[in-house]
Amino acid sequence: MDVAPIGEDGTLHRWAETRKGEGLPQSPLSFRVGFGYDIHRLVPGRPLLLAGIEIPFDRGLLGHSDGDAVSHAICDAALGAVGLGDIGAQFSDRDPKWKGVSGSELLERTRALIGERGARFHQIDVTVVAEAPRLAPHRDLMIERLRALTGTELVSVKARTNEGLGPVGEGQAIQVYAVVLLELAGG
Ligand code: MG
Repeated sequence: MDVAPIGEDGTLHRWAETRKGEGLPQSPLSFRVGFGYDIHRLVPGRPLLLAGIEIPFDRGLLGHSDGDAVSHAICDAALGAVGLGDIGAQFSDRDPKWKGVSGSELLERTRALIGERGARFHQIDVTVVAEAPRLAPHRDLMIERLRALTGTELVSVKARTNEGLGPVGEGQAIQVYAVVLLELAGG
C-alpha cells in the first residue's frame, strides 16, 4: 500500500515501514488534522449567525464579516491542516472585498482551497461556548448546514456555557473551538 510521507524527513513514512516490518495492519496515512479557534463580541443590532444559520437572539456577533465564529474556526482548522495559514491570510479583514462576507461563503471557498491541495473534509468536531442563547435546539440544523457546506456527514456540534466565568460567561462574546480531519485524495 502506498504511504504518503510527511515532512522533510519523512517521519511517518519510516514509521509505516517499521509497522510493515512488524506485520501490523497498514494505514494509508492519508489524513491531516487541524485545530481552529475563534471569538467574536456579542453586540446589539446584528443578526446572530453560527454555522451558516441565523439563530433568534437580541444580539449578534460583531465582525468585518458576518461574525460566524463556527464557520471561521472550521476554516482556520482546515487551512492550518494543509499549510495554508489561517483565515486572515486567505480572506484578510483589511480587504474591502471580504466586508460582510458570510461564514458560509468562507467555508465554501476554504473547501475549494483545500481541494486544490488534494484535500477534502473527512470529519469535523466543534465546541461552541456561549452563555446565551441556548444553542441545543438549533444543533441539528447547524449540523445539517455544515454537512452541506463541507461535504462530509461526520459533523459534530457541541454547545456549552462558560459557567458564568470571564467575558464569555458574562455573555459578552461567543467562543468556538474546532478540530477537523482532512482526507488526502489518493492516499
Ligand atoms: Mg472570526
